[in-house]
Amino acid sequence: MAQQRDYYEVLGLSKNASEAEIKKAYRKLSKKYHPDLNDSADAEEKFKEASEAYEVLSDSQKRAAYDNYGHAGVNGGAQGGGAGGFGGQGAQGFGGFEDIFSQFFGGGAGGGGRAQDPTAPRKGHDLDYTMTLEFEEAIFGKKTSVTYDRDETCKTCDGNGAKPGTSTKTCQKCHGSGHMTVDRQTMLGMVRQQVACDECHGHGMIIETPCDTCHGNGTTKQRHTVEVNIPAGVDQGQQIHLTGQGEAGANGGPYGDLYIVLRVRPSKTFERSGTTIYYTVPISFAQAALGDEIDVDTVHGKVKLRIPAGTQTGTTFRLNGKGVPQLNGHGTGNQETTVKIMTPKKLNEDQKRALVDFVKAGGEDIQPQDKNFFEKVKDKFM
Ligand SMILES: [Zn+2]
Ligand SMILES: [Zn+2]
Repeated sequence: MAQQRDYYEVLGLSKNASEAEIKKAYRKLSKKYHPDLNDSADAEEKFKEASEAYEVLSDSQKRAAYDNYGHAGVNGGAQGGGAGGFGGQGAQGFGGFEDIFSQFFGGGAGGGGRAQDPTAPRKGHDLDYTMTLEFEEAIFGKKTSVTYDRDETCKTCDGNGAKPGTSTKTCQKCHGSGHMTVDRQTMLGMVRQQVACDECHGHGMIIETPCDTCHGNGTTKQRHTVEVNIPAGVDQGQQIHLTGQGEAGANGGPYGDLYIVLRVRPSKTFERSGTTIYYTVPISFAQAALGDEIDVDTVHGKVKLRIPAGTQTGTTFRLNGKGVPQLNGHGTGNQETTVKIMTPKKLNEDQKRALVDFVKAGGEDIQPQDKNFFEKVKDKFM
């Protein structure tokens, strides 16, 4: 498994980087490496790495956990591909320690070190699903569905693994408890452990004739579809939690949950940070000097923007309510529209003459760097 890089290093930041710096660094990297915009072989990996680093460092709680405990503090153990790094809900985030703990004390299997009754109902595994949204879909939300394979309770045997009509008998070795006690030498000395019975594999029962459908597992792989309502205003790296849409539990326990991890494709037109949209619009020198009313693109459609006379390049105008809706809240962010004054590359004779007249009329109120600016203009055009 590849060594995980330091999140600050991934974003090219120091440990005391501000929230704004983290956001800025991530925006830059996510644009650079987004698989839809970058074809190179390692783009996807780099993109994931940056998203994961941002997901942690942009959340003050996760960042504190990371600063204190490193990757183990936020990851639930190092996981390979997929959306592994996005895990970290609740105590799962400290899986790194749990693993070490259960190594010494046995009984692991999600029990956080406590030896559990193997015949007790257990919740099924949670599943991760990565969903990619278009830029606008994340802003406006979407009703959709996801389809995936999961373990479901076998309908033939109702999950007990025995062929209907046949009997199961109590395991002789563990007398139906499903576990047995062993003494084991560990780094911490001799430890008495409770482990799953090796005869019945923790079920407490021996199946004499396994179910034909699930071969005694009690579960079968099934294709499963679930409706998903993506709320307006979601963002890169956020999760949607669907209770009971994970895998079947054991011994009649509930299904696990589904975590849909969201990825958002960047827009070629807009940039987004939280609920704010950033947009740059080109205007001509004449529009900037004389003032004008222009049409500006927003994710909500075109809107009119009044450019006051004497506008400088780089000036930003705020379009209230033309940004991203607040997630689970009221109100909508703004669009920050920056004007960029375009200098004409080619001028025809009339245009040149007009500009010379402009200079002659004293309209050039900027001090030319070159004292002979006006002389040169005269030589060239008059
Ligand atoms: Zn079955
Ligand atoms: Zn047994």
